[in-house]
Amino acid sequence: MFEILKKSLATGIVTTDYPQGAAEVSDAARGEPDISKATLTDARLGAAACPTSAIAFEPGDRAATLSLDRCAFCGLCAEAALSIRMTNRWQLAALRKEDLKRTVRWGASVADTAGYSTDPKTGVEQIGGHLRSEINRLFGRSLHIREVDAGSCNGCEIEIGGLNSPIYDIERFGIHFAASPRHADMLLVTGPVSRNMELALRKTYDAMPGPKLVVAVGACGCSGGIFGKNYASLGGVDSVLPVDVYIPGCPPNPYALLHGILLAIRT
Ligand code: SF4
Repeated sequence: MFEILKKSLATGIVTTDYPQGAAEVSDAARGEPDISKATLTDARLGAAACPTSAIAFEPGDRAATLSLDRCAFCGLCAEAALSIRMTNRWQLAALRKEDLKRTVRWGASVADTAGYSTDPKTGVEQIGGHLRSEINRLFGRSLHIREVDAGSCNGCEIEIGGLNSPIYDIERFGIHFAASPRHADMLLVTGPVSRNMELALRKTYDAMPGPKLVVAVGACGCSGGIFGKNYASLGGVDSVLPVDVYIPGCPPNPYALLHGILLAIRT
């Protein structure tokens, strides 16, 4: 016991001060691919290499759109195309799927980009300081999350598990994971919704008291990801339930999850 206490005191505080402070994400971490500087030829090569069809060309072939809700951050487009590069941008959660689109148009000489931003204005940092009171205002008490794996590979679950670690410590905001949907305010859903899980997901949602929030996690939760819609999968969570926030990534790191959850509370 004394040894544990001694070790704890020697280790000190390891919890991040995000969102008031900066998130410590490795430069090598995978975030959104950047096609904003890509040449038309390179963008075509990247689109051809993409396993999730996340880069799509418009009719006429002079504009391409990257859909982050489909992107698995696999980096194959960057390997195939010299001017596409992977970034470590992870602060990508959005209230609408349209906000997860990045468009590049090629004119006579320069590329015109839309939707690219390294500084998303979501206001999450501003509420970080008084998050407990914000949660109290909305729910009259702490916020409880029920997580449902609707068919994921468990990559997202590993990152969600990190939220309860001493590093991210989501409970410092008064946010807890609940064992029952009857005690939950927020439904966190991972995976493409497999047809076997559709009923369970609907019943979980119906069992939650209002007001309730739904957060789709990861490329699979946002759009069905690499699985899309098929005989076993219904696609993204919004094919079954109304979604309040989409958190892209494959999987999103705990900072990205925290950012998306705080964004949902902000709505
Ligand atoms: S990172 Fe992978 S999934 Fe995303 S656009 Fe590039 S090839 Fe497609």
